[in-house]
Formats: sequence, structure tokens, C-alpha cells
Amino acid sequence: MICHKIQEIEQRLARACERAGRKREEVLLLGASKYANAEKIREAYQCGVRVFGESRAQDFLKKFEELKDLPIDWHFIGNLQTNKVKYIIDKVSLIHSLDRPSLAEEIQKRAERLGKVQDVLIEVNVGKEETKGGVYEEDLEKLFEYCLSLKNLRVLGLMAIPPHKENPEEVRPYFVKLRKLKEKLEELYKIKLPHLSMGMSEDFEVAVEEGATIVRIGSAIFS
Ligand SMILES: *Cc1c(COP(=O)(O)O)cnc(C)c1O
Repeated sequence: MICHKIQEIEQRLARACERAGRKREEVLLLGASKYANAEKIREAYQCGVRVFGESRAQDFLKKFEELKDLPIDWHFIGNLQTNKVKYIIDKVSLIHSLDRPSLAEEIQKRAERLGKVQDVLIEVNVGKEETKGGVYEEDLEKLFEYCLSLKNLRVLGLMAIPPHKENPEEVRPYFVKLRKLKEKLEELYKIKLPHLSMGMSEDFEVAVEEGATIVRIGSAIFS
């Protein structure tokens, strides 16, 4: 069942890449597993998904233990409370949801203690929705610059969760906006940012057309 869904997503990803003139390997399929239990995640792993993103620290720690026998590459994609950083930082390769200086500071502190450089994405609140995390576009440069000063933190790009729309085409302008913000940072700071984490179950094809390098897919795999 899960394998069939993943195959279908793979086909759609391949077609979207082709339309955009991109290679399939340029886009990472991340299983957004917040609503999946360890068993379901194991099944998705066996069907070829290697990277999973969790959204809540508590749930993540439990699943991490349950799936310790698998070499899963874990990312953290949800709102991250500062006091939870210490529990997850030794377990994740990428944090997608850095959105404030206090969180950057805590990640720096904990990463330094571990002798690790933590890769992160800065989450941008592209739709200026009060209920969502993410830095507002006008505060992005300041936060980015602050991150550049932290030795144990490496910013690899941007992430966004755009407003929900019935028609995925209506989300396209938000994906374009995130890509342009990334390009602007690259130009301003003479730095290469390899990642754009954008696109979910309902709109990942549009995101791929607009340059996504990581698509975060939950319900299309697990429900
Ligand atoms: C749940 C979640 C997703 C996946 O959403 P679906 O619409 O179920 O694919 C992607 N990104 C984040 C940050 C999430 O919390």
C-alpha cells in the first residue's frame, strides 16, 4: 500500500523534473512522518524513502528509538522550542525550521558542545500568517547575517510552508518568492545556498518546477 503510493509520487516527481529540465537526483523526497507511527515509517523506508522529517520533539525521540536499527537520515521540520534543541541535535542532520535568533543561539551552543556543525535551513513565513512559524521576509537578512557569525551553524538554504490553497497553481507565487529570497541572499553574501525546502503532498510538482531541492511529503505517503 505505502509502496504503491511512493511509486506514484516517484513517477509524478520524475515527470515534474522532466518538465522543469531538472534531474531527478536534484530533488530529495523527504517523508514527513508526523502522523505516521514507527511501523509505517519502517514500511516507507523499505520502499526506498531514506530521509524522514519529524515535527514534534517528543514524538521524534520515541520513533528514533523504535527505528534505531535502520540507518534513517532524520531531519527536523516543525516548530522547534528552544528547550528541545538539546534532545534532538545529536540525532538530526538538518533542521528546516530555524526562525529566530534565540533558536540559532541555542543550536550554536549545543552544537559546539557536541563538536558538531549543525546544518540548518531558515524558515520564511512567506504568507505572513500569524499562526505559522518562520521569519518574515523583512527580517531574513538580519537573521541570516547573525547565523553567519555562529561557527557551529551552517545555513544551507530556505524553507517555507505557504498558505493553503485549493489550487496548487495559486501556491506558485510563494515558491517563486522563496527562490528569489534565496537568490538575493546568495548575491548579497557571495555564498552558495544549495537547498530550497518547499512543496508538500498537494503542491510538490509546482514546487519542483520552481526549484525545490527537498519536497516534504506526508499524507500522500502515509494516509
Ligand atoms: C506535515 C508537514 C508536511 C507534509 O504535509 P502533507 O500535506 O501531509 O504532505 C510538510 N512539511 C511540514 C513542515 C509538515 O509539518
